[in-house]
Amino acid sequence: MAYKPLFLLLFTLTHLFELALHLVQARSASNPTPANVADVYDPDTYQRWRSYHGEKNRLAILRTLVSWVLTMLLLSLNLHARVAALFPDTVLMQLLGVVLFQTLAETLVFLGFAWMNTMVIEQKYGFNRATVRTFVMDQLRALLLEVLLGTILMGLLAWLHLSMGDWVVVLFTGAVFLLTLAISFLYGPVFSRMGNKFAPLAEGELKEKLMALLTKHGYQVKAIEVMDASRRTTKLNAYFTGFGKLKTIVLYDNLLQAMTPDEICAVFAHELGHGLNRDVLKQQCMNLGNLLLMAIAVWLTVRTPVMHTTFGFAGVNYGFAFVLLSGLLGLLQPLTGLGMNAYSRHAEYRADAQAVREGFGPALTGALKKLARENFSNLAPSPLLVLLEYSHPPLSERIAAIEKALKH
Ligand SMILES: [Zn+2]
Repeated sequence: MAYKPLFLLLFTLTHLFELALHLVQARSASNPTPANVADVYDPDTYQRWRSYHGEKNRLAILRTLVSWVLTMLLLSLNLHARVAALFPDTVLMQLLGVVLFQTLAETLVFLGFAWMNTMVIEQKYGFNRATVRTFVMDQLRALLLEVLLGTILMGLLAWLHLSMGDWVVVLFTGAVFLLTLAISFLYGPVFSRMGNKFAPLAEGELKEKLMALLTKHGYQVKAIEVMDASRRTTKLNAYFTGFGKLKTIVLYDNLLQAMTPDEICAVFAHELGHGLNRDVLKQQCMNLGNLLLMAIAVWLTVRTPVMHTTFGFAGVNYGFAFVLLSGLLGLLQPLTGLGMNAYSRHAEYRADAQAVREGFGPALTGALKKLARENFSNLAPSPLLVLLEYSHPPLSERIAAIEKALKH
């Protein structure tokens, strides 16, 4: 089979899909605003939102086009193989060569886009708080993590494949599942701590109210902490992290400043709803389905040496398998995303219902409107976009559901 044109076509299709999504997104800016969220933006702010939305979208469209050109260039000129030839001829070094090259090329090409996004557009609309130093450190950290993770993952795959043959797929899927579990276990206590400061929530009325909510449901946590998110962004957030008795609840410092105690309780009760429904764990399990698809793609890419030789390699390069994977997954993931996003939206409604049951219905409506305002959300996204991409229901539908629940 002519794998080279096939992969060029695959990558082109995934980029076209991405482009189509951005275009639908761009059009959604002119959708009429539903009546129950008409008070979120005043006319001036709405105008500002439209131009913010437009600028972000134009940048995303340009980024997609550049990404397509970069991919076509690297693949059609066999650049991965040319760079790998400069590295020692061992499995691990060959792998490292390709992963390093791919990650560096992407970082260099997309650095400008990241800069435009954070330091120019977000800055212009007053969201960005990151200094040049924070921005550079964040980018370096991401680069390092990507090279490290890519090399470890594909190194593991190479070792398993070479020592055990085709059983590698089952083993690899299991190993990656355990790894993602480990990462989500570690995310709270380790990764999210890198580059942020955490302090325990101050004693007082708010903490007592939150603790009372937890005690009422027998929900044990290690701590409620405040993160200094305001150093990077003005956007608001709160999340539960960790498992078992190590669970930590993290509140952004901006959230505490922007919301009334009742609204903070409402957001908290919503997050508690996720906790009580074990939504994080369920999402992890659904990831397993995603991983199985990935396993099939992995199997294809390491079982078919001609997929590598057609791009200039002497045989299978496990780093390049990683590059090919992203092409295959780009086609598969919108399909799995469809199911996972649908479930996630369902989980959001359920968590909102929890907050309503705790008596925070009206406060939650207020909090969600504030969140939408501060996060500059799209109030009328196209249904197609919601179906494909939204892990949270649109604001007006959430508020309608809360109002309905309040009447019962
Ligand atoms: Zn939620």
